[in-house]
Amino acid sequence: MSIKYDALKNNLQAPHSLITDLDGQEGFFHDETIYRSIPSAVLVAESKEDIMTAVKFCRENKIPVTPRGAGTGLSGGCVPSENALVIATSNLKTLEIHPERKIAFCGPGVITKTLQDEAARYSLAYPPDPASFEESTLGGNVAENAGGLRCKRFGVTRDYILGLEAVTTDGTILKTGLYNDYRGLALGDILIASEGTLAIITEIAVRLIFKTDRGVTLLVTFAKPAAAAQTVSDIISSGLIPNVLEYIDGDAAAIANAYEKSTLIDEKAAAILLIETADKDQDKQTTLIRKFCEKNRFLTLNIETDPDKAEQLWQVRRNISRAAKACAGAKISEDIAVPISKFPLLVAFVAQLNRQYPLRINSYGHAGDGNLHVNILSQSGKPTDLTLADEIIEKLLRQALQLGGTITGEHGIGLAKRRYLKYEFDQPTLKAMRKIKAVFDPDNILNPEKIFPDENLS
Ligand SMILES: Cc1cc2nc3c(=O)[nH]c(=O)nc-3n(C[C@H](O)[C@H](O)[C@H](O)COP(=O)(O)OP(=O)(O)OC[C@H]3O[C@@H](n4cnc5c(N)ncnc54)[C@H](O)[C@@H]3O)c2cc1C
Repeated sequence: MSIKYDALKNNLQAPHSLITDLDGQEGFFHDETIYRSIPSAVLVAESKEDIMTAVKFCRENKIPVTPRGAGTGLSGGCVPSENALVIATSNLKTLEIHPERKIAFCGPGVITKTLQDEAARYSLAYPPDPASFEESTLGGNVAENAGGLRCKRFGVTRDYILGLEAVTTDGTILKTGLYNDYRGLALGDILIASEGTLAIITEIAVRLIFKTDRGVTLLVTFAKPAAAAQTVSDIISSGLIPNVLEYIDGDAAAIANAYEKSTLIDEKAAAILLIETADKDQDKQTTLIRKFCEKNRFLTLNIETDPDKAEQLWQVRRNISRAAKACAGAKISEDIAVPISKFPLLVAFVAQLNRQYPLRINSYGHAGDGNLHVNILSQSGKPTDLTLADEIIEKLLRQALQLGGTITGEHGIGLAKRRYLKYEFDQPTLKAMRKIKAVFDPDNILNPEKIFPDENLS
């Protein structure tokens, strides 16, 4: 279907920001998943007024709209719907910090790391730190309720949102939280994690905290994944919460080393824990962590006190997802989380799947949160492998739920998880969510086929 955008173009403040020719749209076909699709046009918005105009136009003409940040998503949320107008908010980068109030007012296109760096200039911090923080936008972080490495200790995106402004499908601006003096219903809470299905976020007010110092980084290796997983469970169950507690299996370490051309992480070990202690009691934490590592028969334990060298280790960790994508014809990544006491059982289940299936499977994640990312890698990317991958995913998600966990720790539902939603949520809950979707978006134009699969509707 060819859609005529002339009328929209004529009404935009920045007509050049509307890309209707295919060549200019190439970077907007996909996110970091295997899904891809060609939109009918792309608006790289330069103002919220242009977003309002565009959404109104789309609603009148029944054109689907796909909101987009930086496209680092891992669940297909910003992959264009059929014939969609992609509205990218990545150019809305205003950033105003009020240090005395410990608040930042941000455009949705502000990169997560930019906010962190700017806040640090006032000795303040914005803690949520998805491993993609050098690229992901705050709009995408809010829409996915992004987590990250430091989130066990400091909380996820939701914990820092004070207010949102968003363009609704009737082309007007909705103000929530701080933007409305906190009066009325907490509509902003519904927008967080709504994955671009309810409104387009155009302003974000976030809470900042005083900057906390980083402790030391511990790199601990184990001969068995189960031993590393048990150590995670022991540490967190004891009430000790380090700044960061990451689990990496040996194969994930190997691909990350290769990608970074590094030998920093010992890939000969079957599993690794990468831990950053909290500065205020780093000696006490280090002693306790060592005790739990000894109990579970660790192989080696190195303490990195040099912040620059520690940062190199964290960089290797942050790039595991990209490393996995680079080393395979197709990478399907899962993102599950379980109660911490069940983390060893989850890791054991992944090991069992690895033995059972011919595909390469490796795993890593924000273990302190009970979160595990599982990469299923196919060299050929052929449909037979993808069918096998589907089988593995189905088993993995069911196991996560059986262990009292969730099918998505932090990457959202998007296209990737929508058919599994009914495993986690009962029909009344799904119906309630769908009703809210209909209130915000009666014509179902915003990210229409994301999150809610038709079969869940009744
Ligand atoms: C290497 C790597 C590491 C990662 N690590 C983490 C991690 O540690 N923790 C984590 O939680 N995630 C992680 N992710 C996933 C991803 O980075 C996050 O989900 C991030 O929040 C997406 O931001 P984005 O700007 O790229 O959004 P996009 O991918 O562009 O979009 C994501 C979703 O948000 C919606 N959206 C975007 N902007 C808006 C807006 N203004 N209004 C309404 N909806 C909007 C889109 O429609 C889509 O549904 C990682 C990804 C990669 C590639």
